[in-house]
Amino acid sequence: MTTALPVDSSYERPGAGIDVEQGLAETLLTQGPDALLLLTTEGIISFLNPAAERLFGYSKEELIGVAHSRLLVEDDRGGFLRVWSRLGGGSSFGTRPFPGLGLHREGREIPLEITCSLVTTPAGTSMAVAVRDTSHRQDDDAGRRSAVSLLDATFETTADAIVVVSNTGQITGVNEQYLKLWGMPREILAEDDAYALVKFIAKQLVAPDCFKAKVAELYADHELHSHDLLEFQDGRTVELYSRPQKVADEVVGRIWNFRDVTTRTMAQDQARRALDELAQQADQLKALAFQDPLTGLANRMLFNERATAALESPGPVAVLLLDLDDFKEVNDILGHHAGDQMLVEISRRLQNCVGPHGTVARLGGDEFVVLLVGCGDSDAVAQRIVSTLNAPVSIEGTLMRPGLSLGVATRGTEGMSSSELLRQADVAMYAAKEAGKNCYVHFQPEMLATLLERTQLTAGLRRAVELGQITVFYQPVISTNRREVIQFEALARWERDGVLMAPDAFIQTAERSGLIRDIGAEVLRQSCTELQSWLAEDPGRTLAVNVSGVQLQHKDFAERVLDIAAWSRVDPHQLVLEVTESVFFDADSHVIQQLITLRAAGIRVALDDFGTGYSSLGRLQELPVDAVKIDKSFVSMLHTGEERLPILTSMIHMAHSLGLRVTAEGIETPTQARYLMEHECDALQGYLFSRPVPGARRAAAVTQSAEAIAALQEPAVAL
Ligand code: C2E
Ligand code: CA
Ligand code: CA
Repeated sequence: MTTALPVDSSYERPGAGIDVEQGLAETLLTQGPDALLLLTTEGIISFLNPAAERLFGYSKEELIGVAHSRLLVEDDRGGFLRVWSRLGGGSSFGTRPFPGLGLHREGREIPLEITCSLVTTPAGTSMAVAVRDTSHRQDDDAGRRSAVSLLDATFETTADAIVVVSNTGQITGVNEQYLKLWGMPREILAEDDAYALVKFIAKQLVAPDCFKAKVAELYADHELHSHDLLEFQDGRTVELYSRPQKVADEVVGRIWNFRDVTTRTMAQDQARRALDELAQQADQLKALAFQDPLTGLANRMLFNERATAALESPGPVAVLLLDLDDFKEVNDILGHHAGDQMLVEISRRLQNCVGPHGTVARLGGDEFVVLLVGCGDSDAVAQRIVSTLNAPVSIEGTLMRPGLSLGVATRGTEGMSSSELLRQADVAMYAAKEAGKNCYVHFQPEMLATLLERTQLTAGLRRAVELGQITVFYQPVISTNRREVIQFEALARWERDGVLMAPDAFIQTAERSGLIRDIGAEVLRQSCTELQSWLAEDPGRTLAVNVSGVQLQHKDFAERVLDIAAWSRVDPHQLVLEVTESVFFDADSHVIQQLITLRAAGIRVALDDFGTGYSSLGRLQELPVDAVKIDKSFVSMLHTGEERLPILTSMIHMAHSLGLRVTAEGIETPTQARYLMEHECDALQGYLFSRPVPGARRAAAVTQSAEAIAALQEPAVAL
C-alpha cells in the first residue's frame, strides 16, 4: 500500500469535505482487518489505525510520537532499522512479508508478518508498515520448523549412510556417514556424478556386477523399493534400502540408505550356527534314544512307539519276530567282533527285504522284529526274509549260513496292544523253532496252549526229578576191532504217567529251567550203579554219559562227577563224558578248566554230534577231547556204500591223526556199518545193533548186537 497518508490521520475528521473514493479508503483504513502504521525516518510512530491499536493493546494517543521499538520484542529492534536502510537503498527487501515478533502492551509476544514500503507524505518520506498477527499459523510453522531441524539432525547423526540423487542424476543430499562408510573422498561429490559413486562402491564389493545391475534396475523404475545385502570384499556386510524420494506425490529422486550390519549379521550367523548345532545335537540324542547303536536299526522303544501308533489307526498291521539260530555259537567260536559283523549283515539284509515302509528293529541280542503297516501280504515279506537271511555270508573268512526262526502275528481283534502282538509273534517264533527252523510260522491261538504245556512240562519235570521218575536207557556201542560191545551210552528217559518220554521232549526244558543238573546227576548215579559190575569185569569197557553245557557252568560239576564215580566204585578211566562242541566256546574259562580237571582224573571226553557245529576241522586239535562221535546225519548220507563222501572220510582221518578215537552213531544198515569199518571207525552205534534199552534188558541188547556184528561178516548180498 503506497497511498499517501497524512501524518495526523484524517480519520479523526471523517467525511470532512472529501470525495467518495477517499471516503472508502478511509473506511478501509479505519475498519479494515490489517494493522497499519507510519514510521518517521527515526522510527517514530506517526500514525496507526484502530486495527493496530487492537493488535498491540495501546490507544492511539499512547503510541503517536513513540519509538516503534515499543511494539517489538527487544531483539528485533535493530532489524527494523536495517529494513529501513535497505528500503532506502532501493532493495526489495521488506516489501515481501517477513516474520517479526511484536510486543503487546501486556507483555505478550505476538508473532507477526510484516510488510514495509516507503511512502511520501507531506511531512517527507515515511515507512508504511502493514502488520498481521500470525499466531494462528505459529503452530503449523513450529511443527514444520522442528520437523526440518529434526530431519537435518537425523540426517547427520544417523548411523546410516545416506545419499539422495535426483532424477536428473544430481546428488541432492549426502551425509558424513556415507563418505565414511565407503571411504569416499569429498572431491568425488564435487563432480556431481552419481555414477561415479556407483563405480566407487562397486569396486569394494564381492559381487560388483550384481550391484551395478541392481542400480540400473532401480533407476529404470522410479517407483521401486528395494532391500538388498551387499558383501564387502573386506568381510563387512551392508544392508541397502532404496526408495523413491517424493515431493507431493511426485518422484523427484531416489534415496539410498546403507547400513553396516556386519556385527548384526555375524551375531545372526553365530546364533544360527549355535541353533543348528543344538538342533543337530537334539537330533543325535533323539536318534540315540531310539536307535540300536550297533546296527543303526530302531530299538525296542521306537518299535513300541510305532506299533502303538499303527494300532491306533485302521488297516493291516503285522509283526514279524525273528531269532537267529545258534547265534551264540558264532559269537563264542569266532568272537564277539565276528558276531557283531553277522548282526550288522543281518540287519542290512532285513532292511532290504522290508523296504522303507516297514520298521526293522533290534530288540537285543540276536532278536529282530519287523513292523509292517498297511501291508496286505506279510507272508511274501516273511518268505523273502527267510530265503534272504539264509544265504551264506562270509565273516572274517569263514563262510556261514545264518539260520533263523520267524514268527508272524497280525492284528486281529480291535484294541490289541503292541505288546500283545509282539507276544503272539514270540509264541509263533518258538513254534517256528520247533517246526525245524529256517521257516516262518503264523501265530495260532492253539499255540498258547503249547506254551501252557511247556510251562506245565517244567513243573512236571521238577516233580519227576523229585519223585524219581527219571530213568536211564542204555544203547550199546560196538568196537570194530574187538567186534563186541565195549560201551554203553546212558540215555535219559522220563516215565510220565506210565508213558516213556524221549529226551528230545524234555532236555531243552530241563536246560532252560536248570533242572538238567539234577537230571544229569541222576543219570550218572543210576548208570554207574547199574553198570558197575559190568565195567569191573573188563577195564576196556566204558560208560558214556551225556553232559549239557548248562551242567558244566556249575563250578562244582567236576567234583560232583568224581564223587558219584567214587561213591559207585566206578573207575574214572571207564567214564566218558559226551559234550557238544558249543561248550568249548563258552566265555567262562572254568568250563574248560573243569574238563581239564576231569581228564586229569582219568575221565575221557568225547565230542558228540561231531561235524554239525560251526567249528572247522582245524580247531579239533585245540580241544581237550579224547574221542569224537560222528553225527548220524553224516552216516545217513550213506545208502549204497558206493558214495564218495570226502567230508566223512576226512573227519575220520583228521581225528585219527590227532590221536582221537572215532565212533559213528546212527548206524541203521549193514552197508553203513561196513563202509565205516572199512574207513577204520573205532566204534559203531545204532539201531542196527540195538536201540536204547532199559537196564533190565541190557544183556539182550548185548546178544542182539553180537548177532548183528556176526551178520556183517557174511558177504554182502548183492542188490
Ligand atoms: P545223542 O547223545 O546224540 O544220543 C543219541 C541219540 O540217537 C539217542 O536218542 C538215540 O536213541 C539215537 N539213536 C541211536 N542210534 C540211532 C539210530 O541208528 N538211528 C536213529 N535215528 N537214532 C539213533 P535219544 O535217546 O532220544 O537222545 C536224544 C538226545 O538227548 C541225545 O542225543 C542227547 O543229546 C540227549 N540226551 C539223552 N540223555 C541225556 C542226558 O542224560 N543228559 C543230557 N544232557 N542229554 C541227554
Ligand atoms: Ca550222546
Ligand atoms: Ca550224538
